[in-house]
Amino acid sequence: MQNFDEKPCYFNGNYIPLKDANLNVRTHALQYATAAFGGMRAYYNDDKNNLFVFRIEDHYQRLVNSAKILQMKMPLTVDEFRAAVVKILRDGNWRQNTYLRPFLYKKSLELSPRLHNVEDGFIIYAIPLDDYLDTQKGLTTCVSSWVRISDTQIPTRAKTTGAYTNSALAKSEALQNGFDEAIFLDTHGNVCEGSAENIFLVQNGVLHTPPISSSILEGITRKTVIALAGDLQIPVVERPISRTELYTSDEIFFSGTGVQVAWIREVDHRIVGNGKIGPVTAQIQKAYFDIVNGKNDQYTNWLTPVF
Ligand code: PMP
Repeated sequence: MQNFDEKPCYFNGNYIPLKDANLNVRTHALQYATAAFGGMRAYYNDDKNNLFVFRIEDHYQRLVNSAKILQMKMPLTVDEFRAAVVKILRDGNWRQNTYLRPFLYKKSLELSPRLHNVEDGFIIYAIPLDDYLDTQKGLTTCVSSWVRISDTQIPTRAKTTGAYTNSALAKSEALQNGFDEAIFLDTHGNVCEGSAENIFLVQNGVLHTPPISSSILEGITRKTVIALAGDLQIPVVERPISRTELYTSDEIFFSGTGVQVAWIREVDHRIVGNGKIGPVTAQIQKAYFDIVNGKNDQYTNWLTPVF
């Protein structure tokens, strides 16, 4: 198979091999983390011989919002964005599960951390990706000693490069202490999210998830889970969640483009529920995988076919 580095990416208006899409070391975004990005997935469906990008318009809109917060402007309209994504996937003949990274960045080479009067650049590239974390085994997690940044520090509503220093600190701490993933508390001590995923708790058949005001990223998978829960008649409550509810809930799972829907077996050495995937999580997980893999015709409006 062709090395994915040889496949095309979108690079400031041109389509060039990914290996040639390089930035100057002085780039503002590299020096000051003045960038915003997206993370989308496309799933290959063998039966339909097609690749489907999941919720592309929602990812576009979140990037537009992130750009606004960082005083940047998305150079492409939603139709141009969709066309660019489809073109790199089609021309690259991607016939496998794929992760897409649109990246909007300050491309000036000037000194000074600021947002205004700095020219923007825009890149979209694709890489192969199956599981980011195991979705079947039950993840072990810890509450991080790092607190999630708040909206008044580095806006968490925006998916900004700078915010991921906070994520990297928590993720490495968790992994180096033998866990699979970290769970952040917010500055008020409430449960927030994972290093790169939202979180849901199940209590007596009801889904609970931290509200937007708990400094979470407004996850597109989170929104998907909430919609699916509605269809499956599972009630959902968005409310501030206390740390110890992580120890007493019946089921807990992460949601995210990378993580998909992955169940949590352990938090801070406490087994969640009976230590097995719970019925609500299993139901949501199955519904999610069916939809992203194009096996549920009710949700085809969330899928953009590539071929
Ligand atoms: N929170 C953070 C910090 C993330 O990086 C991600 C991944 N984008 C998520 C939540 C989940 O968001 P989404 O479902 O849109 O991928």
